[in-house]
Amino acid sequence: RVKGLFKNDYRFFDREMKFSNQRAFQVKNDLRMGLEKNQFYIVYQPKVSPNEEIVTSCEALIRWKHPEFEEISPAEFIPLAEEVGMINEIGDWVIENACKQLQLWKSKGYDPIPVSVNISPSQFLQADFVEKFWSYLDTYQIEPSWIQIEITENLFIDNEKYVQQILKIMRKRGIKVALDDFGTGYSSLAYLQKLDLDILKIDRSLISGVSDFPIKKEIATTIVRLGKCLGMKVVAEGVETKEELDVLCNHDIDEIQGYYYSKPLDVKAMTKVLKTKVLSK
Ligand code: C2E
Ligand code: MG
Ligand code: MG
Ligand code: MG
Repeated sequence: RVKGLFKNDYRFFDREMKFSNQRAFQVKNDLRMGLEKNQFYIVYQPKVSPNEEIVTSCEALIRWKHPEFEEISPAEFIPLAEEVGMINEIGDWVIENACKQLQLWKSKGYDPIPVSVNISPSQFLQADFVEKFWSYLDTYQIEPSWIQIEITENLFIDNEKYVQQILKIMRKRGIKVALDDFGTGYSSLAYLQKLDLDILKIDRSLISGVSDFPIKKEIATTIVRLGKCLGMKVVAEGVETKEELDVLCNHDIDEIQGYYYSKPLDVKAMTKVLKTKVLSK
């Protein structure tokens, strides 16, 4: 009987594997169609300065309305796009469309707030990445202070010198650089010391439950202090509760991003937020 049970489990597992492989296969195949048929769009998640409770910037996050699978999360399709070499085109699409949106907001008389865009390692490492980046800024008349980039530590593996050079060029022109997901992965303190970064984003995994676990509180607040000592602005990702917010505010966090204040918003809702910079709660 027990044997049978296990057998069933394996078969179930096999079937699950097969389904998820089939889906991954199709998602990879459909990425180009997604671009061509305009199935991608961007949502914007506000980042809030907790003292004034004002929206001070936002993060551009890609979404995909797939005709068959409906909404596919970027956590699923971005790694697949990286795998099949589609990330450059998709990444460019995000930068260009964030710039277009900023230009539109500007033309409608809104004061644009900085929009941060996630950059995948392979996208960043393209030989003409910076060149293309500047061309979008020029085409849409975007001031460098309106657009920020979010990179992750794995970008530096094997490419430290080169990445450092490119970041220097970008920062010189006024682009602010955020280190995303800090506290996961390698989190090498050496990078923090060596690289010129403007913003440190503490990963959600260190933030959620920060008010419940003393050890988490210690780690998170120590990272806040570390970032600030190094002259960086520190942002907490994934703040969902008032209790988490309070812990971070007591430790002088600069910006809060998370469901407590706001989920990612579609253009219409974000435009409304831009009017007042205040979130209705
Ligand atoms: P990320 O850059 O760390 O973005 C933050 C993620 O956390 C977003 O997920 C956001 O919706 C989610 N989040 C924010 N606050 C909360 C919260 O309070 N609770 C919970 N549960 N989640 C929260 P999203 O939009 O699904 O994106 C997932 C990841 O996909 C991003 O993580 C980023 O690594 C990647 N991604 C998204 N858009 C792009 C893009 O345009 N280009 C690239 N290369 N990667 C992207
Ligand atoms: Mg990010
Ligand atoms: Mg992040
Ligand atoms: Mg994260």
